[in-house]
Amino acid sequence: MECHRSFSSDYAGDRHRVGPHHPRGMRRCLTIGEMLATGWRESQYGWTDKPPLTDEEKARLRATRPPVEAINPSLGTPGPPDPKQPL
Ligand SMILES: [Zn+2]
Repeated sequence: MECHRSFSSDYAGDRHRVGPHHPRGMRRCLTIGEMLATGWRESQYGWTDKPPLTDEEKARLRATRPPVEAINPSLGTPGPPDPKQPL
């Protein structure tokens, strides 16, 4: 049986399944109660068993993200005029 909950990653989705793969039907999803009891939580991305980011970790992620100009320079200031264009 699948619970059809959404998960933050395929890895998380796999982690909420318990029991043997065989015989068929023995593998099942954790119940909500079991998940909450073992540290699972529902994030904005789906269920996850990772602890939430601390404010410090969030700040570090923001600090290491490059500015848009570094990813696509054309989004920065306009370039020099094309010299072939008549004025
Ligand atoms: Zn499930």
